[in-house]
Amino acid sequence: MSLLRRAILMASQSPWMRANARRYRVLRRTVTRFMPGEKVEDALEAARQLAEKRIATLVTHLGENISDRAEAESVTQHYLGVLERIRAATLPTEVSVKLTQLGLDLDRELCYANLTKLIEAAPPDKTLWIDMEQSPYVDATLEIYLRARQAYANVGVCVQAYLYRTGKDLDPLIAIGAAVRLVKGAYNEPAEIAYPKKSDVDASYMELAKRLLSPEARKARVRAAIATHDRAIITELIEWATAQGVPKNLLEFQMLYGIQRAEQLRLAQEGFRSAVLISYGTFWYPWFMRRLAERPANVLFLARNFFGS
Ligand SMILES: Cc1cc2nc3c(=O)[nH]c(=O)nc-3n(C[C@H](O)[C@H](O)[C@H](O)COP(=O)(O)OP(=O)(O)OC[C@H]3O[C@@H](n4cnc5c(N)ncnc54)[C@H](O)[C@@H]3O)c2cc1C
Repeated sequence: MSLLRRAILMASQSPWMRANARRYRVLRRTVTRFMPGEKVEDALEAARQLAEKRIATLVTHLGENISDRAEAESVTQHYLGVLERIRAATLPTEVSVKLTQLGLDLDRELCYANLTKLIEAAPPDKTLWIDMEQSPYVDATLEIYLRARQAYANVGVCVQAYLYRTGKDLDPLIAIGAAVRLVKGAYNEPAEIAYPKKSDVDASYMELAKRLLSPEARKARVRAAIATHDRAIITELIEWATAQGVPKNLLEFQMLYGIQRAEQLRLAQEGFRSAVLISYGTFWYPWFMRRLAERPANVLFLARNFFGS
């Protein structure tokens, strides 16, 4: 991992900046590249516009590591309202949550209870997605996911290709026909547990994606969401899947709002399932910093906004 990337990811942890980032106009202006606005209405309007282009959406209310039960309850109530609004507007939109927003740091049972309220409120044909957070949360997230999946079919989980362990983690997920979102991984993880080199992460990603689309996974009815903006990986995977006879409608690509827009549209137009994750909310600082870390050019974009402001 480059020094710049590591430095940005470390800065994303700053408690002071987490509390005060919104004071800075240059940051507020730059963040609009990655989110349509801070309000849920902004996210749902963007979802409506994308639906017109046959692009489905996921929405997520930014926030992580909440510190009291009342906050976990209020996040849960918020998402229940969002699920109701999605239903009323008949949008092709799913919801994605972080377990630390639902109280994972406070009480695992509370978190599970909040999660199941959301799963029950989601329509049976739509997946309630669970994000994957930093490595100390991986065990708990997978345990909670597997428990929830025994009781409900419409719940999915994210796994990260940069972790050495993910190949093993896929075994039970494939066996139960889980909905799995595969990402490279967005956090600052040590070399003891995660591939430090991008080329190794990319190779791991391809291998895991192929497993999620293998005959065994298809037989178990795995829903494989290929969440990447990496065009080389997307092209190679489509070629491989075509050669393997994987039906086009099983290839689902997910990207983040504002990134690779032309590619999102192209995939939808070519008949692949294409979805965009839209974030909203005021607590965008750590999430925004992870987006900066993913691409050094984004730092130049921030710098241009700074000198232009
Ligand atoms: C739908 C979705 C859900 C996600 N959920 C999680 C999660 O739960 N947990 C988690 O750890 N991570 C999550 N991520 C983030 C993920 O781990 C990566 O950090 C992120 O997707 C960048 O990796 P990449 O696969 O696009 O590949 P990269 O190799 O990082 O990028 C490939 C190319 O895509 C473009 N690109 C990528 N990122 C950016 C950016 N920020 N700005 C501009 N261009 C960019 C660039 O052209 C780059 O060369 C999610 C990503 C997506 C798309």
